[in-house]
Amino acid sequence: MSTTPIRWQDYKSPLNPIWCPGCGHFGVLNATYQALAALGIPQHEICFISGIGCSSRIPGYTKTYGFNSIHGRALPIASGVKLANPKQTVIVATGDGDCLAIGAGHLPHTAKRNVDITVLMMDNGIYGLTKGQTSPTSPHEMKTKSAYFGNQELPENPLALALAYQATFVGRSFSANIPHLADLITKAVRHKGFSFLQILSPCVTYRGRDQFVILRDLCQPLPDTHSPDDRMSAYKYAEDPSKLWIGLFYEAQAPTLEDKLNHVMDVAQQTKGRMEKDALLKRFQI
Ligand code: SF4
Ligand code: MG
Repeated sequence: MSTTPIRWQDYKSPLNPIWCPGCGHFGVLNATYQALAALGIPQHEICFISGIGCSSRIPGYTKTYGFNSIHGRALPIASGVKLANPKQTVIVATGDGDCLAIGAGHLPHTAKRNVDITVLMMDNGIYGLTKGQTSPTSPHEMKTKSAYFGNQELPENPLALALAYQATFVGRSFSANIPHLADLITKAVRHKGFSFLQILSPCVTYRGRDQFVILRDLCQPLPDTHSPDDRMSAYKYAEDPSKLWIGLFYEAQAPTLEDKLNHVMDVAQQTKGRMEKDALLKRFQI
């Protein structure tokens, strides 16, 4: 067996990305290659799952297992892959539309089950693939193809949602800060449990080239005084309107879905499938 370290280039598929020149997703892809190389995970032990959207093209650009699935359904499919083959490192590539609109119903359940997968949510605050409609994270009053007089709704806060849904690893980074992003993806994949990353990733075509500069100026690393085990502090920085804090907001250790199912199987085996009388009374609160 070869002992040659895996290089980031080894994760690159023969397909060339067809994103618009300057799209933020190039940075996400590069940071992902670097994170995988740092982790040294063999290509056949990785599976990328995506939904639909510009960000969801990532499985095609990685030389690993992958499935560019259907709109909004990446999370249940990724959960199935992880349970069927727990040895796989499962990474979801999704966008603000795919994850927080049509797929929004899956996020709370996958997070609270603590499925051991990593979600890379590329957030550009617009539907890019379908040519510039308002998304769940579009800024208030921004004009889009579907909001000609300006978006009348307030944007969702993905980090606050992930915290409320009990995700055990919550972070934010910026696609143009590749070392920061690669480091955060590395930590997210290493974390045992549900990891959610909001990755600010500009859409140069429908948000304008100045989105890079606006985001760059707003991004600031979380201060050293913030401790990732402090959930309330994580909320405070996630809700701060003056800055876009980047880094690890929250991390906790908790049993994963696989741990919980293994426990249920152990109990079922010990009781031969029969619940004890006391457990039944408790279960039905008699
Ligand atoms: Fe990137 Fe926007 Fe072009 Fe899609 S439409 S590839 S998000 S720049
Ligand atoms: Mg989008």
